[in-house]
Amino acid sequence: MKIISTAKELKEQVKLLKLSPLGFVPTMGALHNGHISLVINARRKCPLIVVSIYVNPTQFNDKEDLKNYPRTIEADLDLLNKHLRKEDIVFIPYDKEVYPTEDKRIFGFGNLDNVMESLHRPGHFNGVGLVVSRLFDIVRPDMAFFGLKDFQQVAVIKSLVRKLKFGVKIIACPIVREPDGLAMSSRNRLLEKDIRKRAPVIFKTISRAAEMFGENDVPGIKKFVKSTIEKEEGFRIEYFEIVDDIDLIPIKNKRGIKKGKHYFGCIAVKAGKIRLIDNIEIPLA
Ligand code: AMP
Repeated sequence: MKIISTAKELKEQVKLLKLSPLGFVPTMGALHNGHISLVINARRKCPLIVVSIYVNPTQFNDKEDLKNYPRTIEADLDLLNKHLRKEDIVFIPYDKEVYPTEDKRIFGFGNLDNVMESLHRPGHFNGVGLVVSRLFDIVRPDMAFFGLKDFQQVAVIKSLVRKLKFGVKIIACPIVREPDGLAMSSRNRLLEKDIRKRAPVIFKTISRAAEMFGENDVPGIKKFVKSTIEKEEGFRIEYFEIVDDIDLIPIKNKRGIKKGKHYFGCIAVKAGKIRLIDNIEIPLA
């Protein structure tokens, strides 16, 4: 694999290789098997892959979170080396490559700005939109691979692609979990030992919530999720919502269900000092 840090060199290299479709996997590093699953999905379709590693300052609404975000570049490169071919590219841009000048665009993602992550991380998705649009401009991929772990982000990216008319196909990939069910995340390594041990309660509880949907209505399920998780010392729910996968409109009760749509239970939990998110599809039949 080649390691490249400037937009100019990346563009030249891609042009030279003439391999298509070009697959793109954007990451913030601290890589784990969730990220690698995106690379594996890309490999199935793309003879050339660009993986970017860039901790994007504009998507952090919390300065401490940005400061503490894990940075493990050597280990990241070792891991990628096991999965990429010699022509594939790891793009580790300097700040000035992504943001040559201050990017002041405000996108507006409609209802996506008014639910779940957007309410708890103001400005986060605008920052995601800034970095992804800049990276798409530089890389010019045919396909880009994103994890359903960040469920709302996938909807935001699809909306961004429509808004800015990028000719890129967005491929959403399933969540990869630890053996005990916890969704893999770069932030898991920041969890205190005792909190990490009990963190599987999150997936266990939303899995139970999905099963309960047959016999229970939304308010009862929300109550169950909150009380079960908050029984654990140090765990606090920011939200648990059941939403459709297009507009992400939370349903208040089963009468809100629209035929032909898919619904997901989405959760954000503060586990000790660390914020974790997860989601699960709700079977309707
Ligand atoms: P990040 O480095 O956290 O910005 O994540 C980069 C990409 O990896 C995003 O598209 C995430 O949704 C995806 N990702 C992170 N964790 C997982 C996981 N456990 N399973 C699948 N995809 C993931």
